[in-house]
Amino acid sequence: MNKIQMKTPLVEMDGDEMTRVIWKMLKDILITPYVDLKTEYYDLGLRHRDETADRVTVESAEATKKYGVAVKCATITPNAARVKEYNLHEMWKSPNGTIRAILDGTVFRAPILVNGIVPFIPSWKKPITIARHAYGDVYRNTECIVPAGSRAELVVTAPDGTETRELIHEFKGAGVVQGQHNLDNSIGSFARACFNYALDTKQDIWFATKDTISKKYDHRFKDIFQEIYDAEYKEKFDKAGIEYFYTLIDDAVARVVRSEGGFIWACKNYDGDVMSDMVATAFGSLGLMTSVLVSPDGVYEYEAAHGTVTRHYYKYLKGEETSTNSMATLFAWTGALRKRGELDGTPELCAFAEKLEKAAVQTIEDGVMTGDLIPLSSLPNKTKVDTEAFLREVAKRLDALL
Ligand code: NAP
Ligand code: MG
Repeated sequence: MNKIQMKTPLVEMDGDEMTRVIWKMLKDILITPYVDLKTEYYDLGLRHRDETADRVTVESAEATKKYGVAVKCATITPNAARVKEYNLHEMWKSPNGTIRAILDGTVFRAPILVNGIVPFIPSWKKPITIARHAYGDVYRNTECIVPAGSRAELVVTAPDGTETRELIHEFKGAGVVQGQHNLDNSIGSFARACFNYALDTKQDIWFATKDTISKKYDHRFKDIFQEIYDAEYKEKFDKAGIEYFYTLIDDAVARVVRSEGGFIWACKNYDGDVMSDMVATAFGSLGLMTSVLVSPDGVYEYEAAHGTVTRHYYKYLKGEETSTNSMATLFAWTGALRKRGELDGTPELCAFAEKLEKAAVQTIEDGVMTGDLIPLSSLPNKTKVDTEAFLREVAKRLDALL
């Protein structure tokens, strides 16, 4: 068989634990037999991050800027226990945080829909994609415990030294106080990433904040979105037959629940954090949640939304059988290959990605699935398979489609 050719390499970011095991199996069984795979490989496994003083993470992000498309395996974000386990020189920062800071991106998360895995909300027929602004607000806050009898004020010092003061509260009793910020530039990048992604995927986009209560802070988000939409996107949206609309966050939540899906929900940082877990859970399983980081200048990094599945990895190391879901990792690869194909004008690569996704979904719809999906599937006959057997079942169906 002639392998499908690639013009430009993908940036490949390898990772840790069970997902690293899946990474190799998936490439060996489902990618390299069919595609003459070109990648620029970066090992983001914790050991190698430690050996390179985390340079490798920065280099992988810079390569992503150069080539435009990356595919990333889940990685460990070290905590104190990991520093001990891996004998690390330092408690290195979250690789995702580092990459996001360099690419200045927005994270889009969407579930993979499979017949037989029924969402907890029965009206949801199409995926709901959450776009999370990944900068500022409560994630970059400053907070204090306030003793009784204190006065708290917000003080902004302008470049010329003039101060603007707003009273926050005269504390008769003890309490707490918090300062938050965001940046017009970051909000603008977020808006553009959302509008581009909506055009890319031909879906409506909803944006919601609490601007009725937060008349300056949240209102700024609303205004920036509207200005950018009117100036740069309205015509393109009309042409594509898609819609942008703004509503209050309470109203958005109610509408999302009553909807049938098939749109992008743009959320401020905190709303996106919380709502993406709600949406993922309501759709079924973490193993079915995809994630892509899109930068305002059109650079894409694909990954699974879940972590390195540590508990399964320790079983694997003991030689025990594991049944870890590889769907989200598989869709990270197909997402990246398809995008590479689109950018390079190699439709064979896009068609391959399409068929691989189809084969994977078909496998589960045929009743062959990993353990996490067994209790969720409404199929009468289903078989639990181990990590590798699932990939081999997908390969059988892929061969038939090709
Ligand atoms: P996790 O790896 O997502 O796993 C949490 C639990 O969810 C698993 O123990 C498993 O449940 C279930 N699960 C997740 N993905 C699954 C899959 N593909 N197939 C089957 N079950 C799956 O989260 P975590 O245990 O909190 O974190 C582990 C490590 O991952 C941490 O070191 C963390 O830093 C890292 N992490 C990385 C990323 C990233 O790189 N994007 C994201 C999150 C976490 P059962 O054990 O009940 O089967
Ligand atoms: Mg969260």
